Amino acid sequence: MKVKAAIATGQLQPLVVDEVDLDGPREGEVLIEIRSAGLCHTDQMLIDGSRDWPNYPVILGHEGAGIVREVGPGVTRLKPGDAVIPLAMPECGTCPACRSSKSNLCDEYFKPHPRAPFSWKGRPVTSFINLGTFAQFMTVRAFHVAKIRSDAPLDQVCCMGCAGVTGIGAALNTARVEPGSSVAIFGLGGIGLNVIDGARLAGATTIIGIDTNTDKEAPARRAGMTHFLNARDFEGDGVVEAIREITGGGADYGFECVGHPVLAQQAVDCTRIGWGTTVLIGIMPGSMTDTIPMRPRSIQAGRSVMGSYLGNIKSLSQFPDLIDWYVEGRLTQDNLISHRIGLEQINEGFELLASGQARRVVIDF
Ligand SMILES: [Zn+2]
Ligand SMILES: [Zn+2]
Repeated sequence: MKVKAAIATGQLQPLVVDEVDLDGPREGEVLIEIRSAGLCHTDQMLIDGSRDWPNYPVILGHEGAGIVREVGPGVTRLKPGDAVIPLAMPECGTCPACRSSKSNLCDEYFKPHPRAPFSWKGRPVTSFINLGTFAQFMTVRAFHVAKIRSDAPLDQVCCMGCAGVTGIGAALNTARVEPGSSVAIFGLGGIGLNVIDGARLAGATTIIGIDTNTDKEAPARRAGMTHFLNARDFEGDGVVEAIREITGGGADYGFECVGHPVLAQQAVDCTRIGWGTTVLIGIMPGSMTDTIPMRPRSIQAGRSVMGSYLGNIKSLSQFPDLIDWYVEGRLTQDNLISHRIGLEQINEGFELLASGQARRVVIDF
């Protein structure tokens, strides 16, 4: 079938909106009509050149929500008409990670998958992390697809598959924030706002947000932030001192949501000695090869540093709970989406994201 999609043709090139061919679902796959898709900084890294990608052209987009239109042979869990959210992390259900309660990192995610359902001008086009939500329709393996309740507004929950699950899960499932605790969140973009949601749900009573953009303060306060620190007001590690002062010695939990080595170190140092736990969420440019500065003494003083990918929430069996929480009014996703555009405006959408003006930009198809 012919579908409209945004194609990334190379680094530092504007995306091209054009008609592409899409192959229907084969064994174990489903065809999804995407209703809304979110623009994420991870997509942007493949456009602005801060992350290498071996295969251009590529159809980006890994946040979205839609409706199943067709299922391939062997798919029994999903049927046409189901409301769904595709996620980058599959849940095959049988690998060691899927059988363990400790991790959402399904083995299937790390296996190469050469199938390319999209093609453009007669040549196959890869799709980013086997998704590609910047298209009217997508064909994807069913184990990437979470079935959600039919009354969830797709134009609101479309950011739950990356920003939502990453931030909320980092607080609830990775750090396991406890009632009454204090948290410090570096970066109040799409991820940081969701960490606030998760920390608030967990019962944290001191929620400190750190950002250089004062426009982020109001939405973060609506989500439950109790203290705002403008990073521009501090020199060196001054912000660390400020957090220690607010929390009476250090935050119980730190979250790095930007992907900056210096902030990672500050997110560790601002936590309390003895039990401070820091979760590194932001993807750093060069994160496959570079190192980050950590003071060994800082860790040896009883602190922990954890990594978290998509919030350590299992995509099919645990993620739909978050959609229930949204529908029940327990999350502030509406607060997250600052701009809505059509697919044709996708390049303007990424400019808004890059400028720091936007929290989340959503494409409505
Ligand atoms: Zn993302
Ligand atoms: Zn698995």
